[in-house]
Amino acid sequence: MSKKLTCDILVVGMGPGGSTAARYAVKGGAKVIAIDKRAEIGTPIQCAEGVSESVFEKLEIEPNPRWISRNVPYVRLVSPSGHVVDLNDERVAKAKFGFVLDRKVFDKDLATFAVIEGVELHLKTRFVTGERLENGMMRVHARQFGEDVTIDAKMIIAADGVASRVGPFFGIKTFIPLKHIESCVQYEMTGMGLDDAIEMYFGKDVAPGGYVWIFPKSEDTANVGIGIIPSLTDKNAKYYLDKFLETPRMKGARFVELNAGGVPVSRPLKETYGDSILLVGDAARVVNPLTGGGITTAIVSGKYAGKIAAEAVSANNFGKEYLMRYQELWKDDFGKSLELFFRAQEVLVSMSDKELDDAARSMLKCDFETLNEVELLKAVAKTNVKLLLKFKKFLN
Ligand SMILES: Cc1cc2nc3c(=O)[nH]c(=O)nc-3n(C[C@H](O)[C@H](O)[C@H](O)COP(=O)(O)OP(=O)(O)OC[C@H]3O[C@@H](n4cnc5c(N)ncnc54)[C@H](O)[C@@H]3O)c2cc1C
Repeated sequence: MSKKLTCDILVVGMGPGGSTAARYAVKGGAKVIAIDKRAEIGTPIQCAEGVSESVFEKLEIEPNPRWISRNVPYVRLVSPSGHVVDLNDERVAKAKFGFVLDRKVFDKDLATFAVIEGVELHLKTRFVTGERLENGMMRVHARQFGEDVTIDAKMIIAADGVASRVGPFFGIKTFIPLKHIESCVQYEMTGMGLDDAIEMYFGKDVAPGGYVWIFPKSEDTANVGIGIIPSLTDKNAKYYLDKFLETPRMKGARFVELNAGGVPVSRPLKETYGDSILLVGDAARVVNPLTGGGITTAIVSGKYAGKIAAEAVSANNFGKEYLMRYQELWKDDFGKSLELFFRAQEVLVSMSDKELDDAARSMLKCDFETLNEVELLKAVAKTNVKLLLKFKKFLN
C-alpha cells in the first residue's frame, strides 16, 4: 500500500520560490507539506548566483554572511569589438553592491527556515502526476525513494522551476516558445585573473541573443557561463562558451564544476493562478528577461503566494477569483519592471554587433545615477539617435 499524506497546502519544489512560499504559508497558520526531488536543497547549482542587495530586504530575514561568496562593486560590459565599459563608482552616482551568492548554502538555509517554522519537508520526492478530486481536494502522486506516495492538499503552490510539470497537470498553460527560453551552460573555473566586477560579453559570435558572464565567487574562482537563444543559431551554448574559453581573457583558466539549465525570458504567464493552485518563480515565468535573473522575483512571488494561500485556508476559499489577489500583488510589486525588461530584451536581441559597439561607445560618454537596467538603457539611447528610435516604445 502506498504512503498517504494530507495537508492544507502542498508546495512542490524548494528552490528560493518554494522555500519562501512554504515559510510564509506555515507562518499564516496552514499545515504545509513541501516536496523536492533533490536529496539536498541547493545542490547541484544551476545558477550564476548574482543578485543585488535588495534581495535581502525582500526575504525579511537577517542576512547571513555565509550566503555571500563575494561582493562585486561594479559591472563591466564588453562589446563585440572589445569596447570595455566599467560601471563603477566613478561613473555611477549611487552605485550599490552586487553579490555573488553561495546558493548551496543560501537555498538550503531558506528551506531550513521553512522547516523551523513548521513545514514538513520530504526530500527525494518527485511530483509525477496530479488530479482534482470530486470533493475539491488536489491529489498528487509522487515517487519517494522508489515508492509511491499520495498527497492530498486543499491547494498547491507549484514552485518546480523552469520545466514545471505541476501547472499543466492542473490546467495552467505554462508553454512558452523556444525563442523565449535561454539555454545556459556554466563552468565554475579557477586560475584566471579576476577583478571586483561582474563581467558581461556581448555579440552575435559571442552569445547569440544573450551574453557570456564571469561572476567572481572568491579571490580565484568564478562562475563562467553563457546564455543563448537557441533559435538564433545552429550551434549550442557549450560551443560558444568553449570558444570564449580560447580567448586571451580566459588564459590559465581551469575547470572546477559544470552545470547547465534553461531560463525563461518571456513575459510572465498570463495567469499564475487557478482554482486551488498558484505558480511562483520560474514556474510562473517571473524572471527578468533582460538579465535572466530570477532569484529575487522567485522569492517575492513566493512570499505573496504563501501569504495568499494561508489566507485561502483560513477563509476556506480556494476559488480562482479569490486567489487572483496573488497575481495582483506580484504585479503591483514588480510587474511593470518585468514588462520593461521584456521589451528591452527584444530590442537588444535585434541589435547588430555594430549597434552594440555604438551603444558601448555611448555608454562611455555617460554618467549614471544608479545601476538600474532601465536607467542604463535610457541614458544610452538618449546619446544615440538610432538606438533612441529602437528603444522609443518603452522610453515613454
Ligand atoms: C545557468 C543559469 C544561471 C543563472 N544565473 C542567475 C543569476 O546570476 N541571478 C539570478 O537571479 N538568477 C539566475 N538564474 C535564474 C535562477 O536560477 C532562477 O530564476 C531561480 O532559481 C528560480 O527559483 P525557483 O524557486 O522558481 O526555481 P528553482 O530554483 O529552479 O527550484 C525549483 C525546485 O523544484 C524542484 N523540482 C523540479 N521538478 C520537481 C518535481 N517534479 N518534483 C519535485 N521537485 C521538483 C527542483 O529540484 C528545485 O529544487 C540562472 C539560471 C541558470 C540556468
